[in-house]
Amino acid sequence: MRPFDRSRVRGSLRRLVLVLALIATPALASADPPPAPEHLLPADEVLRLLEEASGLESAGKSNLAASRPDAVAADSLHAYDAIHYRLDVTPSRTSRHVDGTVTLTLVVRDPAFTTVDLDAIAMTFSSIKVAGSPRTTWTYAGGKLSVPVCEGPSCPPHATGDTLVVEVTYACNPTLGYYYYTRNSYTLAEPWEARYWWPCYDEPSDKTTLDLYATVPVTESCWSNGVLVDVVPGAPGLHVWHWRETHPIATYLVSIATANFWRFDQVAGTVPIVNVAFPEDSTKAKLEYVNVPAMVTTFSNLWAPYPFDKYGQATVDPFGAGGMEHQSMTTLRRSLLRGDRLYESVWVHELAHMWWGDWVTCVDFRDIWLNEGFATFAEALWVENFVSPTAYDANIAAAMNSALNADTNFRYAIYDPPPNYIFGTTIYKKGGSVLHMLRRVLGDSDFFAGMQLYGQRHAYGNASTRDFQQAMEDASGETLDWFFDEWIFAGGIPTYAWSWQAVAADPPAPGESDVALFVRQVQTAAPLYRMPIEFKVTRSAAPDTFVTVWNDAVAEQAFAVRVNGTVTGVTLDPRNSILKRVQNYVLDADVPAAALDPGPGRIELSAAPNPARGSVVLRGAWLGGGAATIPAAARFAVFDAAGRLVRDLGTAASAPGGGGFAVTWDRLDDAGRAVAPGIYFAQVVAGVKREARPIVIVP
Ligand SMILES: [Zn+2]
Repeated sequence: MRPFDRSRVRGSLRRLVLVLALIATPALASADPPPAPEHLLPADEVLRLLEEASGLESAGKSNLAASRPDAVAADSLHAYDAIHYRLDVTPSRTSRHVDGTVTLTLVVRDPAFTTVDLDAIAMTFSSIKVAGSPRTTWTYAGGKLSVPVCEGPSCPPHATGDTLVVEVTYACNPTLGYYYYTRNSYTLAEPWEARYWWPCYDEPSDKTTLDLYATVPVTESCWSNGVLVDVVPGAPGLHVWHWRETHPIATYLVSIATANFWRFDQVAGTVPIVNVAFPEDSTKAKLEYVNVPAMVTTFSNLWAPYPFDKYGQATVDPFGAGGMEHQSMTTLRRSLLRGDRLYESVWVHELAHMWWGDWVTCVDFRDIWLNEGFATFAEALWVENFVSPTAYDANIAAAMNSALNADTNFRYAIYDPPPNYIFGTTIYKKGGSVLHMLRRVLGDSDFFAGMQLYGQRHAYGNASTRDFQQAMEDASGETLDWFFDEWIFAGGIPTYAWSWQAVAADPPAPGESDVALFVRQVQTAAPLYRMPIEFKVTRSAAPDTFVTVWNDAVAEQAFAVRVNGTVTGVTLDPRNSILKRVQNYVLDADVPAAALDPGPGRIELSAAPNPARGSVVLRGAWLGGGAATIPAAARFAVFDAAGRLVRDLGTAASAPGGGGFAVTWDRLDDAGRAVAPGIYFAQVVAGVKREARPIVIVP
């Protein structure tokens, strides 16, 4: 690299600007009718929609947004530090009902506090005590149980640093958080649903140790966090399973899974692994989990020794998510156990959460990418280490493709996602891609040293995005505000419009030539990106050479590179180190490329009624971007649960005033037959934006 003399290619540059002016116009789809729907949805979208659909029926990770507390900020007035929960529960095995007693040990932070506030939804309380003395004047409103510290003559010491013990005996019929089925009962509580099955301070930043006693039928086994202390007889026909987690755990990771399970043990070095599944799944489970010990070893070598006393996987059915990373005891969806390891990436993902999510927990759910982006990136690290670097490249390319599609449909920043997008594709796939990019920016040595430092600093605790940034800066010696600001705290993806031109070396140098590289960033509704961009330069009679330039956060930049030989071609980002859109064009041919940037605005799909017996009204609402971006028409279609097109519903014009589209699906397929009850996917396409949602048709 050397400084670039712009005057030498000024003519070409002026021409470049003209060409770019033509291609930089945002893609407004208003003039073009929406295309006919595809006949098959992509497999990864089908899986995502199926997860969402199962959430519709049974509630699960996709219902989580609905449970978002109204005033998370109110919890900032947290007057105590929860340090230990003893949780005695009897999950009913005949209905969705839980009886329990929570014994909270806390340390006072604010000596002026008068109540111990706990999150609890739809519970009844039969006994409440503070320091062993009954309380009768507690209040319960708005999902908060407020227990008076003092009542009458009973007023235990509560200066800063004092320890208090609060005991709450409760009962509930949870609508979320705890799930009962004939064959199994289990919990699934991320992010704010622990409060539906046990009273607690339900934010991820207040981690505690845990003793969990679960009373279940003697015909069943009950699996939970940490180590199994003992199993002792309870009332006739019941056993009490005592699990102890001595490592701090967040409330959303506290879990039980109980059923008549078959058990299969493995070991990874000194780490015991226990898997439980239904007895008839034993052969499949052994095949599916064959690589799990190697996964534990791989991640232990990359990051830190496995941080808990055991690892486990409990398979339950039905399950709203694919998997859930309950601390030291993951819960998995039974239908993923096929015997062919098709969903092995799910085992990898949940295991990776033991480090990123459980060992180091996001300080609140605005930083959820520190859990999900990391676990997604770990899927690529696993195949890189276990299969090949080529498999890593393919995994990253697929994640980037998903991130691009998600960005096309709805652009938002990774940090503090909109309420319905805490578990959005952008969090997972763009989040994972960001870690890949950071790895390429810093190099492997600094990057992995930074991950290890981040883990050591926040082990068994919490971390924010800026904490992660600080660890990477300290490990690398680089300042990284620019990187995190553009990739995490702002929404969007760069679109590079670029070209190159070979020119004679100046001053003349026999056998050498200069390559002029022109880079313009043409994205809209996104920042300008500062990034190192690598180019591959292909030469006649010489091997390819690679050069990296620092593209500043500017709309247009040009570079010159001196190379030996005659240049025959240039490739931007040959190793796929940047999540991006690219517009290539030939500098001296005035052929404008299609603008790729999706532009502002998005289409949101709703269906009502849902579940439905007869007709379903599908509505598309155009949000954001302003009136000028509203497409003239939107096109609707319905697919079956395998992703196959069932009905092309054609286009609907924007309603007067703009921004609303609606069609009615009469439950018929394209051949005019009524479809069978089951799960279907409705899709709306408006311009380059689309959204799909599950619909359930009931008999
Ligand atoms: Zn995850």
